Amino acid sequence: MSKDVDAPDQGQRPGSDLEETNEKKIADLETRIAYLERVAEVSQILNSTLELGPLLEIITQVSTELTKTEACSILLYEEESGELRFMPSTFAKGEGIALSIETSIAGLVFKRVKPVLIRDVKADPRWNRQVDQVSDFDTRSILGVPLKIKNQVIGVMELVNKRAENGFTQEDIQIATTLAAQAAVAIENARLVKDTQQAYEELAELDRLKNEFVSIASHELRTPLAVILGYASFLRDRVGKEESEQLEIVLSSAMKLRNLIDDMMNLRHVQSNDLQLQLTIFSMLELVTEVLLEFQTLIVAKSLRVKVELHEGDDDPVNIEADRQKIYLIVANLISNAIKFTSESGFILVSLGRRDGYIYLRIADTGIGIPKKQHEKIFEDFYQVERSLTRRFEGIGLGLPIVKGMVEIHKGKITVESVEGRGSQFTVMLPVSQELA
Ligand code: ADP
Repeated sequence: MSKDVDAPDQGQRPGSDLEETNEKKIADLETRIAYLERVAEVSQILNSTLELGPLLEIITQVSTELTKTEACSILLYEEESGELRFMPSTFAKGEGIALSIETSIAGLVFKRVKPVLIRDVKADPRWNRQVDQVSDFDTRSILGVPLKIKNQVIGVMELVNKRAENGFTQEDIQIATTLAAQAAVAIENARLVKDTQQAYEELAELDRLKNEFVSIASHELRTPLAVILGYASFLRDRVGKEESEQLEIVLSSAMKLRNLIDDMMNLRHVQSNDLQLQLTIFSMLELVTEVLLEFQTLIVAKSLRVKVELHEGDDDPVNIEADRQKIYLIVANLISNAIKFTSESGFILVSLGRRDGYIYLRIADTGIGIPKKQHEKIFEDFYQVERSLTRRFEGIGLGLPIVKGMVEIHKGKITVESVEGRGSQFTVMLPVSQELA
């Protein structure tokens, strides 16, 4: 028998007393283990819930259960008003009521950043009876603990009315502090997730509004523009040389505007996934030649050298089954960029070939190049390496997103390689046939 055991009271048998002490110790240990098991379980539940409502429900339920209290309220700090507001939960009272930090018990906990125990609330001037009045409840005692993350206090947890006669114990304070620490982290996580979701929703709404605006604006602009184009070309054929030159300028400006509107509409279609593929079999070589012919004037004006190279023998037309109009847009945008961003007397190489069921088209130029960190960004809507207002080149940054969209609906891929100041190379891989893609 150990010598450390307290001396027994007179008249009692030493053996039975020791047994009693040991039994109590074992019972205490068992309670403690049960409590720790519950805390571990709670911690797991809290970590798996990211919605504030259900989270508050779990926290308040477990807290009342473990501290054997009648209610548990969570009050969160609101920055705009500087008040503490009662959060909703089945185990809480006073939902929605806000308390001043300066004049309430919760405020005291918040300011002290320490547990506060009020054994008789009715005798405390800081007690707010409004909560009892609205929830038809009788508050007698409160144990308040701060909800804190590192050095920041985000609110207060209040445990109300200990069920045992001798009131709250030191152990309750310990339990409440442990639970409050876990609850604070879980609440903060849930709030961060909610804020992020809200930000995403706002962004999505802005994007939707932008798309709607683009779609309405382009639609509304198209009709009057068609009228301008029609009348201007009608008049050009009937007036004298001088007026005809002026009308030519009107026509070319109106055409630029129409291309811009077409770009916006094309992008809308790509993004709303409402594009249908009109499949035909055609020659990529012929299509490239057609595009180059369209840009002939610009190529000559800049004295550019252009070469078309076939990797599968010169007489191979590089046939593909695809939507010709959409592939035309891809080639035209890439060649137009190559011309635009290459200075006078530069070189453009267009390579065509077939490999492993794919047609590849490579357009390389000796132009200004694209900084490495912008290689992905240039495919985003309206993105330009030089911002529009300061830039030397025309365009609004819609060409590449359209190209990428058109490539992807053909189940193809586009990549870019470029060195700033040296030139760029865009490679498009398209399935030879959509059936095999
Ligand atoms: P836009 O040409 O109308 O500005 P794009 O979407 O076609 O719009 O291209 C986006 C940006 O990518 C361009 O503004 C330019 O900064 C860069 N870019 C595209 N192609 C080239 C190229 N061949 N050489 C250099 N920069 C290019």
